[in-house]
Amino acid sequence: MARCTRTTGLQVHHKNRAGGNDLGNAEVLCTKCHEATSTYGAPGASPPEFTEETKRKALERAGHRCECPRTGGCH
Ligand SMILES: [Zn+2]
Ligand SMILES: [Zn+2]
Repeated sequence: MARCTRTTGLQVHHKNRAGGNDLGNAEVLCTKCHEATSTYGAPGASPPEFTEETKRKALERAGHRCECPRTGGCH
């Protein structure tokens, strides 16, 4: 079981910084996985925030757990 399925500390991550704030650009990640993304904290323009509704839908879609697809050594 390598995939992260954390259910706490979830944040809605922008898959693509230039991808806007639609549900299709949203990925639910736990804090650890979010920090492990290559774009986290990188300089440059921040993408537009997701609306509360989009965040809620993303969390529902993810089953309220981390969607990190990276296996092995993400964190
Ligand atoms: Zn995670
Ligand atoms: Zn991860």
